[in-house]
Amino acid sequence: MKNLLSRKARGIAPYVAGEQPKDRQYVKLNTNENPYPPSPKALEAYRNFDFSSLKLYPPLGMEKLRGAVAEAECVAPDHVFCGNGSDEILALCFPAYFDEDGAGAAFADITYSFYPVFCDFFGIPKKIVPLEEDFTLDLRKLAASGAQGLIVANPNAPTGIGIPLPEMEAFVRENSGRVVIIDEAYMPFYGQSAVPLTEKYDNLVVVKTFSKGYSLAGLRCGYAVAQPSLLSGLERSRDCFNSYPVDAVAEAVCIAALSDEAYHADTVARIVAERTRVRAELLKMGFTVPESKANFLFAGRAAKGGKEIYERLKEAGVLVRFWDKPVLRDFCRITVGSPAENDILIKQLHQILL
Ligand code: PMP
Repeated sequence: MKNLLSRKARGIAPYVAGEQPKDRQYVKLNTNENPYPPSPKALEAYRNFDFSSLKLYPPLGMEKLRGAVAEAECVAPDHVFCGNGSDEILALCFPAYFDEDGAGAAFADITYSFYPVFCDFFGIPKKIVPLEEDFTLDLRKLAASGAQGLIVANPNAPTGIGIPLPEMEAFVRENSGRVVIIDEAYMPFYGQSAVPLTEKYDNLVVVKTFSKGYSLAGLRCGYAVAQPSLLSGLERSRDCFNSYPVDAVAEAVCIAALSDEAYHADTVARIVAERTRVRAELLKMGFTVPESKANFLFAGRAAKGGKEIYERLKEAGVLVRFWDKPVLRDFCRITVGSPAENDILIKQLHQILL
């Protein structure tokens, strides 16, 4: 049969998301979801939603959601852009800020593996900068890449390492004249957001999500904060794909989630406390675990590779993330779950290491 796919569709190596197996009930610590349910206010907004209104398209411009995000982030509503998960916004950043024949997008070799896929899909050159041996990112090396724009996940994934805000600010300032994109998917668990800097720097785009901190991964909503001059690039790119990326239900639920700051702060604090406890247990077992500022731990153990740990945990009903790639294959990325889930993880690891 003749292959009717385009050369691009045939040639691209797409991003591979963490598995969502249905064969049995797992303790699911592989995709950095939040173990707690969404805020009761978010659930109430869903239940009270007027579903008959779905016959209409959502309002263009998402003013209400942008207003609620702006209030929560202490920025002006015209500094906010909303999208169908932060993955979509990150994707739109590439056609918005990079030229196919330009100096490319620079990012670390070990970071969110969607960035190289976006580059390949949009035909944008990549400038890949190796992390240091301790998995930290030397921002000067990223800047020295000569790229058209620079992308940093803070905290980084899958290492969990965070870069303090003063360092990020110096980096943004020193790179005025080119775009700096900070992917803050895991920032709720660190608390060093660069959003306030967007008022001051016209080259900065900060991308955030409702998926992790707000327990709404299944709803698909994220946002970017930047000055309107930069956001216009995202708007122009979006309007070449989809005028309504955030559905009306998601808009209502996210607004309600934002209104419940106490719940958000409480669930984040629980995860951060568990992160400290689980890391201490892993260190006691002889794992190498960089200090994480995210809701996951990057754990490696010289004696047993990441693959064996991943496979044995899976057999025992605990799902973690493993990549069969250089450096990464010594490690597993383990989401911080609820205390009960983490207890099962620790118990199973003890058995595996016997
Ligand atoms: N950035 C990073 C670093 C991530 O790990 C993820 C989640 N896989 C995302 C962005 C995307 O999250 P979402 O599309 O759910 O907002």
